Amino acid sequence: MEPKEYDSGQKPAWCAGCGNFMLVHAVRQALAELGKDPDKVVITSGIGCGSKLPHFIKTYGFESLHGRPLTVAMGVKLANRELTVMAISGDGDAYGIGGNHFIHTCRKNPDITYIVQNNSVYGLTKGQYSPTSPKGFVSPTSPDGSVEPPVNPMAWAITTGATYVARAWYMDPQQLKDMIKGAIEHHGFSLVDVLMPCLTFNKVYGIDWYKERVYKLYGHDPNDRVAAMEKAMEMDKLPTGLFYQEKRDVYGDELPKLNGPLYRQDVTRIDLTKAMKPLR
Ligand code: SF4
Repeated sequence: MEPKEYDSGQKPAWCAGCGNFMLVHAVRQALAELGKDPDKVVITSGIGCGSKLPHFIKTYGFESLHGRPLTVAMGVKLANRELTVMAISGDGDAYGIGGNHFIHTCRKNPDITYIVQNNSVYGLTKGQYSPTSPKGFVSPTSPDGSVEPPVNPMAWAITTGATYVARAWYMDPQQLKDMIKGAIEHHGFSLVDVLMPCLTFNKVYGIDWYKERVYKLYGHDPNDRVAAMEKAMEMDKLPTGLFYQEKRDVYGDELPKLNGPLYRQDVTRIDLTKAMKPLR
């Protein structure tokens, strides 16, 4: 298949130069290279600039509540494990409002790919500081500078149980597509944290700021959890690539009743008499 076959025809209203343009193309490319049938792919999202992304990809999509793309993705996957399920949201959606869902989804390890557009600010709501904003970040909700240190999504994902943990830089389209493709192919919960500037509202982390810090992992063993944590804890530089990957039991696989889509289940063998009795 070709990437253009995943183009819904809808036009994004993102600011000129927004990293989401690169991301939407990378997702289409990854799906095309994997030959995914658009009818068998579901992309859920939360609320935010990047959470509009399902509108622009010709698969099934579900724009949910703020911070809740993973809950919907989990429901979809458990209802029909034959589907390729992806969730997309921004750093505020993923690591703030949906932070609790994020760590418990890592722990459960369902077969879902999670892509987070990490620009360290809430863009759609006009520039409030987010969980990945640096300490001291001046914004409408922190006029004297934020007093909280930022979260470390990579360390969070590795320690709470995600089984594919990658970071990509939006200006490296090959790497971005490869990390997303690897995440979709991985059987288990995958995080691809995508670094990109918000040109409109984040004047601290601009393109040059990233360019001085971003580098590609080289000679790193993604099966080595300790080495992955060392890379995750690097703060002065920003390594990109596949930090960590492991094979582990996947949530849903060990639930025999969910073997196959729910619509194909034989409901005649289920006796609801006992459950219905108190309701009569
Ligand atoms: Fe992109 Fe920021 Fe504009 Fe939103 S506000 S579309 S994140 S550049």
